[in-house]
Amino acid sequence: MAILIEHPCVQHKLALVRDAGTGHKRFRELSKEITQFVCYEALKNIRTKEVSVETPVATATCRMIDTDLVVVPILRAGVGMLDGILELVPTARVGFVGLYRDEVTKQPVTYYERVPPQIRGGTCIVIDPMIATGGSTAAALDLLKEQGADNIVVICIVTCPEGIATVEAAHPDVQIYAAAIDERLNEKKYIVPGLGDAGDRLFGTSH
Ligand code: URA
Repeated sequence: MAILIEHPCVQHKLALVRDAGTGHKRFRELSKEITQFVCYEALKNIRTKEVSVETPVATATCRMIDTDLVVVPILRAGVGMLDGILELVPTARVGFVGLYRDEVTKQPVTYYERVPPQIRGGTCIVIDPMIATGGSTAAALDLLKEQGADNIVVICIVTCPEGIATVEAAHPDVQIYAAAIDERLNEKKYIVPGLGDAGDRLFGTSH
């Protein structure tokens, strides 16, 4: 299932980030801001524990996060969402997964993988701005589950019905949080209307 974050503050920034005239500096800033809003919502059910805090006046009963958080950007575009999440949860650990699509088999192949052991028992936050076909997301989730992750959320900026269906079919336990669920994929597997190649727009590598 995918959860759409419809808050006007998110949707306003989404309009700006989609605009083809938005340059890489602003694109990066907006992606970070959108990511923070989406992440905030995605983490609303994480485990907390009760703690007592001495204020200058009295003892307050408070709640603090009680799970190891591991953020996993999918290379390369996921890196553009990392700063925003680490500002929100600064003690989170970070793992990386790199995948490419084999030209012949069209299947995702892992070329880089390094995740902290805390994914076992902790909460894993997989980040990728665009969940298009959903193939690489599903493959990354396979890999993380093989390493012991059993509590995973996916955060993206834009997804579409095909991407959601692929992830849901392979990983019905994993929730996707998105700022937009667009109409469809085009013949090049870009999301329509989408925002183009998120990696190129984040890192200024558009030609
Ligand atoms: N990846 C992107 O960066 N954009 C898309 O539209 C689809 C996949």
